[in-house]
Formats: sequence, C-alpha cells, structure tokens
Amino acid sequence: MLVVPEALIAGLVSPADAFAAVEATFAAMARDEAYNFPVVREALGEGRQYGFKSGLDRAGGLLGVKAGGYFPGNAGRNIPNHQSTVMLFDPDSGRPVAMVGGNLLTALRTAAASALSIDRLARPEARVLGMVGAGHQAAYQLRAAALVRRWDRVIGWNLHPEMLPKLGAVAAELGLPFEAVGLERMVEADAIITITSSPAASLMAAHVAPGTHLACMGTDTKGKQEVEAALLARATVFADELAQSVSIGEAQHAVAAGILESAAIIPFGHVLIGTHLGRVRADEITLFDGTGVGLQDLAVAAVAVVRARERGLGAEVQV
Ligand code: NAD
Repeated sequence: MLVVPEALIAGLVSPADAFAAVEATFAAMARDEAYNFPVVREALGEGRQYGFKSGLDRAGGLLGVKAGGYFPGNAGRNIPNHQSTVMLFDPDSGRPVAMVGGNLLTALRTAAASALSIDRLARPEARVLGMVGAGHQAAYQLRAAALVRRWDRVIGWNLHPEMLPKLGAVAAELGLPFEAVGLERMVEADAIITITSSPAASLMAAHVAPGTHLACMGTDTKGKQEVEAALLARATVFADELAQSVSIGEAQHAVAAGILESAAIIPFGHVLIGTHLGRVRADEITLFDGTGVGLQDLAVAAVAVVRARERGLGAEVQV
C-alpha cells in the first residue's frame, strides 16, 4: 500500500480538488451508489475524543475509514488538537490500498462541503458573509467560501474575540474587508458559516434575516449545538447525511424538541443531481447541516493517492 504522509497533502490536493470530490460524493450518495457506515465516537477521558467514519462508494470504487479525534493535550506538543488518518481498501479484495494523513484533508473537505452549499443554496446576490467561529477550521471555511461567491465584506463573531484578528488576516489575504461584530449584527449577512465547538446555541433565530443561507459545520457530535433549534423550524434544512444530521448534527436538537420532522430534512445531494430544487424563494432561510461524512474523507484521500502515484511521491510498503 502507499503511505501518503500529512506533509505531502498540501502539494497534492487543492481546495478546488476537494470541492469536486465532495460534490461527486454527495451526488453518489443521492443516487444510492454510496453510503456511510454508522459513526463510532468514544470519549477517552481527559477531554479526548476518538472515532471512526467509514463508507463504501460503489461507483467510485472506494472503501475505507477515517480514524481520528480530538486530543486537547496536543497544544502543548505543538501539533493540532484534531488528528486523523485515512485508510483506503480495495472494495473487491479488502486489501489495504493506502494510508493517508487526514488532518489537512479534513479541513479541505469540510470547507468544500460548506462552500458547495453556499454555491447552490445562497441567493445569487449574496454579498455579505458572516462567520461564527474563528478556530482552526474557520480559515479554511472562509477561503473556500471566497472561491464560490464574490463577497463585498465579511463580518465575524467569536466567543473568544482575541481569535478574530487571525480570521481577519485571512479575509485581508483574500482582499475582503473584515469587521468583528456582535451576534445581533449577523442579520446583515446573506450567508453565515458556523464553525465552533459550542455545546449550546450561540446564533439565535433573531440574528438571522429572511433569505439567509446558513452552513452549520461545527456540530458533529451528540451534545454540540451552534444555532437555536427554532431556526431550523423556520428554515428549509438540507443535510450531508440524514442519519448523522438527526443524531450528531445540528438538527439533533430541533428533532428531539419535536419542532422539526426528520422526514423534512433534504439530503443535499438531491440538489446536486437535480431531484430537489434547492432554494425556491428569495426570502427562504436555507440551512445546510454539515456533519462530515466518511465518504468525503475517502474521496479526498483518493485524490491524494492518485496525485502521489502520478508524481512518484509517498512510500510503498508491504503489509
Ligand atoms: P478549534 O478548537 O480550533 O476552534 C473552536 C472554535 O469554537 C473557536 O472559534 C472557539 O472560540 C469556539 N468555541 C469554543 N467554545 C465555544 C462556546 N462555548 N460557544 C461558542 N463558541 C465556542 O476547532 P476547529 O478545528 O476550528 O473546529 C471547530 C468545530 O468544527 C469543532 O466542533 C469540530 O469538531 C468541528 N468540525 C466539524 C467537521 C465537519 O465535517 N462538520 C469537520 C471538522 C471539524
């Protein structure tokens, strides 16, 4: 099998590659050619989380798993708190095909999913981007969103305001004016990305104007929550995957509260393959619940493997 280390990924997979891979994945899921296996996520103690996201894409010839989690002690080790590795297997024989560093790939595929949702669900005239969250993923989210729309300005809120200047620097790099604001100013945004690890809602229904598109990307575990459940009751809700959306995604709270029917949540892939119209009204609030599926990880890892083989990079090992 080929080992593609983390350090090579940046030179092998671009945000545009991730966008195309994630789009193809969501479309394959909507055509029932690909499916995700149930997510395993365990608390290891001392704040550590570890789990597995996996799946099979028959059309794409992908079988595999991303193993990884959150290790808060890593800050002191000078390595990212989120650590993950993707293993790809031959779907016919089960033999290992590749082991690929998954940290940057996770950021790229997560940002690609939210950018794809903005591309297809935000109003065409969307000009103001709202960012809720300013951690590690937020910079990737902002860069990917800048690839799909021409924004006039970016407004940002973070619970820890000292983190916002770093996100502002990313906006400046993209040539976009950036302003740190209170959550009530999010009503100015045409699209809002939420990317926090919050255990309770920050963004309330009153903070969101009619016609806004929300990409809710931070809630990927039971018990996390970024937006008020009432907002989902008001919105047309799309999800990368229904089973994850109602169990570990942002929709878990609205469904549990009985104010959102799980049957009303639309698998986003249906918008991509044309079996759902997506946004139908300018004043509609659309909300993408991006929980992060294993198939996204396999798809971007497969791009890394193809590129590495083409360029003679990585290390071939016998297992
Ligand atoms: P990070 O630790 O770098 O940043 C955490 C962010 O959450 C910061 O902006 C912080 O200020 C904010 N925050 C922390 N506690 C909060 C609270 N109580 N209320 C509001 N905000 C709070 O994390 P990251 O790597 O940027 O990841 C952000 C989130 O995205 C995490 O929850 C992570 O698990 C999730 N994530 C989701 C996917 C996906 O596919 N959906 C992929 C990767 C990461």
